[in-house]
Amino acid sequence: MEERPFNDISYERFLNEEKLMGSRCRKCGALFLPPRPICIKCSGTEMEWVQLKGKGKLGAFTCIAIGPPFMIREGYDRTHPYVSGVVELEEGVKAVARIEGVDGNKPETIKIGTRLEVEFLHRGEGESLTTFLAFKPCAGR
Ligand SMILES: [Zn+2]
Repeated sequence: MEERPFNDISYERFLNEEKLMGSRCRKCGALFLPPRPICIKCSGTEMEWVQLKGKGKLGAFTCIAIGPPFMIREGYDRTHPYVSGVVELEEGVKAVARIEGVDGNKPETIKIGTRLEVEFLHRGEGESLTTFLAFKPCAGR
């Protein structure tokens, strides 16, 4: 793995490349997402990049009717709420992300524990490319 600093800029660059990357402490093995340069468990500073599989299950969610401007531009509003959730990844870390493929108007149909897989939502291009982390229900069960 090439050397990139363990910060948000690197993390977002990896998302642009459709890679979900965390940092792992070489000393105690603790895994962090988003990546951290210093281990909060043992204060170790020797980190390595780890690519996560992007599979997990839904731990918690909220339906958001009034979102930030970029979500409003995408057509989400009071009548079309979007869903934000905590995904418990197979590697044992949690990711906060948008949950796609579920109906924000019918929260009762969204089930905790649903198997999810990662989806990278690209917006803009070139220098202004940003990628939002999202998860959607697994196609095959
Ligand atoms: Zn550590």
